[in-house]
Amino acid sequence: MILTRLKEQRRLKDMLGDATSVLVVACNACTAVHRTGGTKEAEALAESLTTDEDKLTIDVTAVPRQCDLALVGDRLEPGKHQLILSTACGAGLQALATAFPDHIVLPAADTMLIGYKGEEEDTVLEGCHACGDCFVDRTAGLCPLARCPKGLLNGPCGGQVDGMCEVDVQAIPCVWVLIWRRLSALGRAGQLLRVEPPRDWRSERHPRTGVEGI
Ligand code: SF4
Ligand code: SF4
Repeated sequence: MILTRLKEQRRLKDMLGDATSVLVVACNACTAVHRTGGTKEAEALAESLTTDEDKLTIDVTAVPRQCDLALVGDRLEPGKHQLILSTACGAGLQALATAFPDHIVLPAADTMLIGYKGEEEDTVLEGCHACGDCFVDRTAGLCPLARCPKGLLNGPCGGQVDGMCEVDVQAIPCVWVLIWRRLSALGRAGQLLRVEPPRDWRSERHPRTGVEGI
């Protein structure tokens, strides 16, 4: 799932400027699950952005999934609103901008990561950078591109402290220690002797990709 985080009020108010009519569009997929940009959060956001003194009117609407042109184009009518404020991820926002070329579409959120919910309550762990050439068959199913802050492909940097990453020894496990432990437990540590060649970063960009059946 994609994790987002709502922007600070100051930044949002700055974006809205002197607009008097705004439509906040929530996304009830990933952002609702993570409680960062679903209907409830969008309504709370609208309330927090309006004060008794100003002339700003904010309406709130929502779509089941903002990253789907078929779901936004037919369901929304931004009509009179000067601005659209999207609480979705960057992909959802761009679907809105494509569907409504005559409107200014603004991001209410920052897109943080593709991740999975951890065992601890309210924890999402980064899992994937969408590199387009998955090689975690060689790393025990753990991704060093996404989980090592340096993106190291051929083993640890040497900075780990008791299995934790030197970048944040309190919060980030060194993924290379995890990879080593898992491969050792599986009797496959020998595969780490293989040197991973430099990545072909062309695989990272897919501006237009055909997917059958969606
Ligand atoms: S190797 Fe690439 S596709 Fe696989 S998990 Fe890591 S970033 Fe994602
Ligand atoms: S300590 Fe481990 S996770 Fe942290 S930067 Fe070094 S190799 Fe990467």
